[in-house]
Amino acid sequence: MRAPRPVPTVVLRALALLATLLVPLLAPVPSRAADAAADVVAIAAAIEETGAETRLVLTLSAPVEPRVFAIDRPERIVLDLPKVNFQIPAEEGARSGGLVASMRWGLFAADRARVVIALAGPATVTDVAVTARDDGAHLLTLSLAAVGAEVFAARVAADAGAFRTASLRPAIAPDPAPADTRPTIVIDPGHGGIDPGAIAAGGVEEADIVLAFALRLRERLSESGRFRVLMTRETDVFVPLTERVGFARRAQADLFVSIHADSISSAPQVSGLTVYTNSDEASDRESATLAERENSADALAGIETREARDEVADILRDLAARETRGYSHVFATTLVEGMGGVARLNKNPHRQAGFVVLRAHDVPSVLVELGYLSSRRDIALLTSEAWKDGATAAMTASIDRFFAPRLGDRADAAAVSP
Ligand SMILES: [Zn+2]
Repeated sequence: MRAPRPVPTVVLRALALLATLLVPLLAPVPSRAADAAADVVAIAAAIEETGAETRLVLTLSAPVEPRVFAIDRPERIVLDLPKVNFQIPAEEGARSGGLVASMRWGLFAADRARVVIALAGPATVTDVAVTARDDGAHLLTLSLAAVGAEVFAARVAADAGAFRTASLRPAIAPDPAPADTRPTIVIDPGHGGIDPGAIAAGGVEEADIVLAFALRLRERLSESGRFRVLMTRETDVFVPLTERVGFARRAQADLFVSIHADSISSAPQVSGLTVYTNSDEASDRESATLAERENSADALAGIETREARDEVADILRDLAARETRGYSHVFATTLVEGMGGVARLNKNPHRQAGFVVLRAHDVPSVLVELGYLSSRRDIALLTSEAWKDGATAAMTASIDRFFAPRLGDRADAAAVSP
């Protein structure tokens, strides 16, 4: 008997397309609220204190259906919303009042937004209401009242299951390209969405700076056609740290470059481009602090960092990790050399620390701090078009040099092929 023939992919695709076309016809007519939710804009966030109550009022362009959860360590209230375009500067989230210590907001996934409210003490949500204003705006009002630690803990326990489900995100999938034999480079613009990263005094956000840089770098790298270039995010959306690592591994990347521009407020003298590679032991105290802060990105968005577990035997993984570490170091050295001509380098431009995002055991990985938003000189450079042009060109040249032997480019045999 002949084995059944697999259904050709093209047929499956056609069926899937047909299904997407039919589903809207079969599904109940969506409500007006759901329709409008596609382009909801948030234009203001205000904290109101009335007696024992603290109210958070979000001004929105359309009504939404919010979901609230209490989470602990530290005590927070999470407000999940459909996709919302936040036209409120992230720095306004630093405002506090009553039971609200600070807030952050932004996209949590492509179609979902999240507001995380850090509480000044244990509190519970007593009311959530969405009301229409005469001018067409809709006010989402969240009322908070202080409660004892035990009541708060009970709320957290009751919400835990639903919150875990609400925090699941679809994996970001790299395009399958089995026939593509070019080296694969994954550019990872740090932060995004609900996590704006560092915020400079003038309101410039790290997430925006690094995305603009990464998009330009992709353009440059793609010009020669020598590389397959992928990005972990191309918009202002949150991507968990381990998901960034998972993306690079699934793409079988040959190089992972995470782009950042953090702020070290405790050390404003720290400035200039720095390339970090992974190490359990940090090269210095500032690097350790920086890695610690970077590694807390997921927790700030309300989710736990889940370390990817490999099925590979530990000894094999360790061997691969050692080899990968060697390549990461070679690339870091190549990059520092290449950037020296165009960027102002940190006085110790190659440093090490335990960054979660650099932990793929089989993908050479570096994290580049383009500069520090705590340094005025760096902000001026990072926001300059001329600097971005020069720096992306130099980074592209360094990547070319690193892959030169593998690409059969005998002009430069100095670099080691991964
Ligand atoms: Zn960062």
